Amino acid sequence: MVELKSDAALDAMREAGRVVADALAAVRETAAVGVSLSELDEVARGVLTAAGATSPFLGYRPSFAPVPFPAVICASVNDAVVHGIPDGYRLRDSDLVSIDCGAVLDGWAGDAAVSFTVGTARPEDTALIDDTRRALEAGIAAAVVGNRIGDIAHAIGTVARARRYGMLEGFGGHGIGRRMHEDPHLPNEGRPGRGYPLRAGLVLAIEPMLIAGGRDDYSTDPDGWTLRTNDGSRAAHVEHTVAITEDGPRILTLP
Ligand code: MG
Ligand code: MG
Repeated sequence: MVELKSDAALDAMREAGRVVADALAAVRETAAVGVSLSELDEVARGVLTAAGATSPFLGYRPSFAPVPFPAVICASVNDAVVHGIPDGYRLRDSDLVSIDCGAVLDGWAGDAAVSFTVGTARPEDTALIDDTRRALEAGIAAAVVGNRIGDIAHAIGTVARARRYGMLEGFGGHGIGRRMHEDPHLPNEGRPGRGYPLRAGLVLAIEPMLIAGGRDDYSTDPDGWTLRTNDGSRAAHVEHTVAITEDGPRILTLP
């Protein structure tokens, strides 16, 4: 069931989104060669706690997961696309890192992700991250009243496929509100004019995940969570929580 949010709810979600943005900014500031992924998780935990927010990631256990998620961020490095568990791995020069973070504040959720490089950036990684951001921007631009879910999916997929990127089969964005994952599902590729009609008050997490090698297949690590490209190529993942309003898309996870 798709739930439309009131203006007051959108304002509350904006505050949750601000906490997510702050946590991601703090993580990014901390990330450097030699810093471990679990240290980045600690930084995000500190921001959430200080804001009085809780994590919708910590303890999350969807049907596919063998164990509850043990952290407040997903940290996916290089050929890990999404859902990486922050562990003792220490960042190395030229790593490509994707950090996904959520927060629940006063009962409302926010969800966002960023990709960045550490130390010396490889030009192809910078291009991949820029293109993933472009796909997100195209998706957000299509998040307007009168369009349908398929228009957002098509906008994202068009940017990705024009540059011959792969995408994670079956994964995409989602509705968000009191729970992190609500209806409708938002594929990262689709046909324009199809799917659920976008109305004011619908809030979506829009999240392209692009794979440099161009293939769509992936494998799950033995940890049961981390999704990794099969060809070993790197991936980027960026996400914003976006409200559809009569005045156009309102990004709720900006700083
Ligand atoms: Mg997310
Ligand atoms: Mg999400």
